[in-house]
Amino acid sequence: MRQTVPIISCHDCGLLQQISHMPEEGTVKCCRCNATLRKRQRIKPAKSIEHTLALVMTASVLFVIANIYPIVQLRAEGHEMATTLFACVTYLLSHDMQILSVLVFITSIGGPLIQLSGLLYILLPVNFNRIPPYAPQVYRSVRVMTSWSMLEVLMLGILVSIVKLSALATVIPGIALWTFGLLIFFIAAILNDLDTEMLWEQISPKTGAIDRQQLKPETHLINCHNCHLLCTITPDHSHNESLCPRCSSVLHIRKPNSLTRCTALLIAAMVMYIPANVLPVMVITSMGETEGDTIMSGVIYLATSGDWPLAIILFIASIFVPSLKLIILSLLLLTVHFKSQWRPKERTRLYRLTELIGRWSMVDIFVATLMAALIQIQGLMVIDVGFGALAFGSVVVLTMLAAMAFDPRLIWDSMEKVNE
Ligand SMILES: [Zn+2]
Ligand SMILES: [Zn+2]
Repeated sequence: MRQTVPIISCHDCGLLQQISHMPEEGTVKCCRCNATLRKRQRIKPAKSIEHTLALVMTASVLFVIANIYPIVQLRAEGHEMATTLFACVTYLLSHDMQILSVLVFITSIGGPLIQLSGLLYILLPVNFNRIPPYAPQVYRSVRVMTSWSMLEVLMLGILVSIVKLSALATVIPGIALWTFGLLIFFIAAILNDLDTEMLWEQISPKTGAIDRQQLKPETHLINCHNCHLLCTITPDHSHNESLCPRCSSVLHIRKPNSLTRCTALLIAAMVMYIPANVLPVMVITSMGETEGDTIMSGVIYLATSGDWPLAIILFIASIFVPSLKLIILSLLLLTVHFKSQWRPKERTRLYRLTELIGRWSMVDIFVATLMAALIQIQGLMVIDVGFGALAFGSVVVLTMLAAMAFDPRLIWDSMEKVNE
């Protein structure tokens, strides 16, 4: 019997390549841009599902505990205060910060909740050889939510808040703090151990790799943006909207209006970048005096009070990363617009970097929310979230959306035109 040699289209550069040998364990990289095309674990498929399911169940229990118990407790001047993550969200809601409360909710509670419950919904029946209804659609949502679930950034935010709060009061770490630490470890293990391709094969068994030798010459090949399945469409269908047979996403040869959408989002982010740095992120009222705390003044405060490591971390996350993202995305847009041939591999690497680092800027939003939710001692000290936090949050979201709208394969398209 002739063995099928699967064709894969690289999601970062669009190159079609045949994988003649799929290793038992390890990664298959794109031969042109070095993107990871497939990742395989040593464990067998059935064992892998069981293993991931155990991790997801443990993480779900930890998630519930982390959300029930307080993160930190404070003792100051005879007052005792404690806050849970959900109380932080409701604090923002009750202080006319609805947009910010939605952002904090999605990144710290909603995102991980959809991730864990979605995986439980799929893996539990799959473990008993059953496919739950709408499994591909649910898994698609889980994958989308992975970008918006930011527990590791939240953890850094909690640690920064503890250092800042310890200057004001006695800080007692709550049960939720330790649970969050464990939860981050488990979620990282789930993301690392889950064999995505294998799970897709289990929940959508009819769709698989394409055999090049059976392809008709008039067939178009399109890579699904969401699940990365290589799909075929015949020319008579190419004018209609086609759906991915595996995850039901709409298929496009390149992300639609990629440059226009990315440019619009980037300009909006640049505009918001000014109030984000000028307006206060936190407003502190103490002994009748009100003082605004901007992103930069927060870093300077930490540096002058001797907390150098924390000042450097905050400087990188809140000042360096957003500026770097704006510069890299502008560079990518300009080079693609002018069909530049300049270092495509390095530009693709820069694109991957923006996707990786963008989320870390959320740390200041978490710090401001936590401190404001905790310090509400009327007559002594009250901390409120300032409008700078809203502007800063919008910069983070807009730059993340801009990076998602950009299609890195456009970098390679102008190279191919020259080679033709
Ligand atoms: Zn590639
Ligand atoms: Zn798909």
